[in-house]
Amino acid sequence: MGYRIYNVTPGVKLLQETGVASFMRCNIWLVQGRDYDLVIDTGMGLDSLKTRIIQQSNRPLKAVVTHSHFDHSGCLHEFDSRLGHRLESSILANPVNDHVVYSGGWTRIGIVDLQQHPDYSATTYRVTPAPLTGYLDEGDEIDLGNRILRILHLPGHSPGSIGLWDPASKTLFSGDALYDGELLDSLYHSNKADYMLTLNRIESLGAEIFHAGHFPSFGPERMKHLLARYRAGKNSLGSVEQWFDQNQHLMKNLFAEQNWADSITPIELVSKI
Ligand SMILES: [Zn+2]
Ligand SMILES: [Zn+2]
Repeated sequence: MGYRIYNVTPGVKLLQETGVASFMRCNIWLVQGRDYDLVIDTGMGLDSLKTRIIQQSNRPLKAVVTHSHFDHSGCLHEFDSRLGHRLESSILANPVNDHVVYSGGWTRIGIVDLQQHPDYSATTYRVTPAPLTGYLDEGDEIDLGNRILRILHLPGHSPGSIGLWDPASKTLFSGDALYDGELLDSLYHSNKADYMLTLNRIESLGAEIFHAGHFPSFGPERMKHLLARYRAGKNSLGSVEQWFDQNQHLMKNLFAEQNWADSITPIELVSKI
């Protein structure tokens, strides 16, 4: 029960919830700076994230949420400093299930390991309200003292989706704007035209490393492949339940570690707590 913690690159750790199915599991990035540490996204909130982060960090903490969906915003409420885009703020302050997209198919498919979380129930699961304490928008910079992250507004998947761009290491923390899987562009507040513009922008950024909201990290060649598939209409997800029915048999263990062997940034498990 809890989180797996991985070393990714110097100053960047990855946390993943062990009790969430691998296809649904949010990547929680811990970027360690000179002056403070930044948590990018916060998982489903099944277990305290802040407790685990504090074991890895002795600096002040700020949390950034790339967007309001339940798989990213579940533990945001635990942090004193909660940053995100203005267009997601009302959802985060009042996270009704439909608005955090915990509804329809997501409530019917098995995304949580009941052995680890026997008290979890799809009928009672809620995201705890987490009003933002500050807004981030296009062009803002987060200065950790030894690393600057620039905010990109990347709408499409949701209106206030943001990415964090580290120009020095050419790394993009892309949230759900782009990950190595089927993209979700037909949620209630998605916008396909905006999504296309966002992907064009991501393509021209010059990023060498994509640390995404889900699945293993990747580089520019994989990015081009994913965008080509999406533009050809082959890399978006329509019905969640249909996808799950088609793919469930492929997954021997829904809650196992993901395979990062082919990732551009091999990761090393440092602890499982
Ligand atoms: Zn999302
Ligand atoms: Zn997500």
